[in-house]
Amino acid sequence: MNWQAFFELHRDLPREGPGSDLATLEALNRARAAAGRSRLGTESREPAFDLCVFDVGCGPGKQTLVLARELRRKIVAVDIHEPFLGQLRRAAFDAGLADLVETRLGRMEELDQPPGSIDLIWCEGAIYNVGFGEGLRLWRPMLRDGGIVVASEATWLVDDPPSACRTFWNVEYPPMTGIAGNETRAVAAGFDLIDHFVLPRAAWWDEYLTPIERRIARFRPKAARDADLAQVLKDHEREIDICHRFGDTFGYVFYIMRKN
Ligand code: SAH
Repeated sequence: MNWQAFFELHRDLPREGPGSDLATLEALNRARAAAGRSRLGTESREPAFDLCVFDVGCGPGKQTLVLARELRRKIVAVDIHEPFLGQLRRAAFDAGLADLVETRLGRMEELDQPPGSIDLIWCEGAIYNVGFGEGLRLWRPMLRDGGIVVASEATWLVDDPPSACRTFWNVEYPPMTGIAGNETRAVAAGFDLIDHFVLPRAAWWDEYLTPIERRIARFRPKAARDADLAQVLKDHEREIDICHRFGDTFGYVFYIMRKN
């Protein structure tokens, strides 16, 4: 992958993965419900998410703004790509949420926080960078007892996907598994899977693939003179084609997990 060409295509997109504000809100409401319930199933009087909230692999941070607006507390937003953090800071300022968003340039696998100091770690479309189970394992000690991780992750939705689709994902993302597979990973990492839901298909298109499709059309003339850009466009067209043809066999799933 030529990263310069990649970021040329991806600069200032609304999102860097499937998702929507509505889906973020839905996941947050389910996470609040999970955090408010004790292990015995009784309602807790402790306020949910009182300590510290991280949004890791935040990208341009659409979900960060939803979290800040809803929780009315500071969200620490972590990403390795500074231009995304700049995009988030501008959006937070425009939304009147600048005081509630702290951007941090860094790696999600090196949060380096004291034990038990985090209430909630949010990770939309980004845990694949470290691996689903590995991310959970790394974050667990920093979470308080009963702390929550909410992560969205590409997931097989059928047992026997068509071979063209399976071949594509076996190259692009070999560890992709089903909901049960991710639950096994969560349990092995010391979490209970409290809740999950499949994002609606529109969450792939409206703010992610459709904007990329439009941009591909716009960049076509330039790509005729730029082999790296042409390759990046081709790779994205393949992914979009797979999503068009086989979009019922895999999807993004939100997982709401509690440290046990
Ligand atoms: N949550 C955002 C971005 C998802 S794309 C959204 O849904 O729009 C994945 C993001 O993870 C990118 O912004 C990328 O820069 C970031 N990333 C990749 N590796 C990372 C790492 N090791 N630590 C932190 N962020 C990382």
